[in-house]
Amino acid sequence: MTEFSLRSERVLLNSDVAPQPAQVFVRDGKISAIETPGGRATYELGNQVLMPGIIDSHAHINEPGRTEWEGFESATRAAAAGGITTVVDMPLNSIPPTTTLWALKEKAQAAAGHCRIDYAFWGGLVRDNVNELIPMTEAGVRGFKAFLIDSGVAEFAWTREPELRRGMETLAQLKVPLLAHAEIDLGATLEGNNPREYRHYLSSRPARWEVQAIRLLIKLSKETGCAVHVVHLSAAEALTAIAEAKTAGIAITAETCPHYLALTSETIPEGATAFKCAPPIRDGANREQLWRGLSDGTLDMIVSDHSPCTPALKGLENGNFPDAWGGIAGLQFSLPVIWTEMRERKLPLEKVVKWMIEGPARLIGLSTRKGRIAVGWDADLVAWDPDAKFVVEETMIRHRHKVTPYLGRELFGQVLQTWLRGELVFDRGNFSDEMTGERV
Ligand SMILES: [Zn+2]
Repeated sequence: MTEFSLRSERVLLNSDVAPQPAQVFVRDGKISAIETPGGRATYELGNQVLMPGIIDSHAHINEPGRTEWEGFESATRAAAAGGITTVVDMPLNSIPPTTTLWALKEKAQAAAGHCRIDYAFWGGLVRDNVNELIPMTEAGVRGFKAFLIDSGVAEFAWTREPELRRGMETLAQLKVPLLAHAEIDLGATLEGNNPREYRHYLSSRPARWEVQAIRLLIKLSKETGCAVHVVHLSAAEALTAIAEAKTAGIAITAETCPHYLALTSETIPEGATAFKCAPPIRDGANREQLWRGLSDGTLDMIVSDHSPCTPALKGLENGNFPDAWGGIAGLQFSLPVIWTEMRERKLPLEKVVKWMIEGPARLIGLSTRKGRIAVGWDADLVAWDPDAKFVVEETMIRHRHKVTPYLGRELFGQVLQTWLRGELVFDRGNFSDEMTGERV
């Protein structure tokens, strides 16, 4: 039996209350009591913020099969350093992709004993695997991701309307959500002809592709009753359709990502392919509308969409956007990137809990166990200093490759310590030796 306590002047119990002084007691991996500060605590955190561990429901860990891109050890090490205590792995770009029960077992085997934080798996809905949805759900998959456009990898086939409908009928019965990469290829008029210019790439994936896909998803959700979750929303133009669908009672949720909330197309340097992702980072006005979408509840959560590859595939040397892998690496920096932007917009601290913890916890069906500091909940905790400033340097990056668009950026919010079910897994730059992460 292990027992300890943490005391802070700024404890964020959940998103409904402002930070307050409290002493949090942990016993056998669970929160056992929350009291007004009294006697000495095991951890005296002073003015550091103590909050529930971050839940990142969108990361591509790529193991097995593309472990040279990323892997469970390196991704969960970076996550722990970023205050994340639960991560959900996307069904691509590992080989095999998680689209069959057999592949799920391969995935689970690759992860077991190699994770510093808790983890879960999304499955994939592709053209020909509707028969796998029931056995995979019974084996613990919490939802299925589909693409409405080319996925970027040959082994994960995108779905057209009839296959989506068929899949969603089954998912509705299973009561698990469809997660959708919402872009439909409608063709585009390219700006300029220099492949090193970001505006050239941006023009190749216009906002209307996202709007069209989201309209189709809303229609299919209405028809089938299947809950839909829009992953990595970039185009603010689609916010109205989502808001209207929510008002009409359609089961739709949506996430956006730190890169869409912090970066702008106008400021991406020529040839800077570390910034390439799909859908693309859009302009500053779009970014501000996404922040409004979060504040008014149209957007439910912020997740990393950590999607690394090898530096060679990222094409950093020739800086050719069309050829480079589309995916942004940076789950370690989600909290400071978001907090730096929130601070500038004078948004209250507790919104971090709403957008980065409670929202994802609900999506993955874990909100009765994780995502708040409450008696009986898992003692997944993070201590961080919102006032501490640092510059992102290569030496501090813990994921496999030192490529991230945040390199050189000055950020507020230093993660100091991370506890997973009461175990200190990250402590000011040091990691525990044991891999205590479990599948949830
Ligand atoms: Zn993704």
